[in-house]
Amino acid sequence: MLHEMPTLPYDMEALAPAMSKETLEYHYGKHLQTYINNLNRLIVDTPFEGMSLEEIVRQAEGGIFNNAAQTWNHTFFFQGLAPDQPPVSERLAEVLGRDFGSVEAFKEKFTQAAVGLFGSGWVWLVADEKGFLSVDSEQNAGNPMRKGLKPLLTIDVWEHAYYIDYRNRRAGFVEAFWKLVDWGKVDENLFGR
Ligand code: MN
Repeated sequence: MLHEMPTLPYDMEALAPAMSKETLEYHYGKHLQTYINNLNRLIVDTPFEGMSLEEIVRQAEGGIFNNAAQTWNHTFFFQGLAPDQPPVSERLAEVLGRDFGSVEAFKEKFTQAAVGLFGSGWVWLVADEKGFLSVDSEQNAGNPMRKGLKPLLTIDVWEHAYYIDYRNRRAGFVEAFWKLVDWGKVDENLFGR
């Protein structure tokens, strides 16, 4: 099957100034499109051609894994942002409190992981099979589904995610990210609709 660009649940200028239209034009419009084009080219005449994106992410290695995971990760990242942020639900706050101490303590731990990740990668809030939450750092295209963990929230800390708006200041990007997190999506990813 042919993989296609996901739609964004907001306008390209809707996340500014935290994330500019120009960043979305490059990050969503060019970087993500390139991963999808590469994936579609690489899977031709392989067993991955008939698989869903998630199956490819779980099973592939090398270039097919890299481009499939970057497609999945970016789709999840962009669709987890919102210009009008809903509040953290009570039940989500309860679980974050149980596993990190408080919502603020979770944000601090996630921020430290995002700022501290060496090189390119992704930082995730994940749930294990028993529903316990943790922060998971992944290099490059890494995706926690490979470890049996369920993604709830992610931040892209590749330089291309922030260089237009924040230059070298990854910490500024991470701070702005907290103004864009769609807590309704995080709730839905953990508890279902
Ligand atoms: Mn990216």
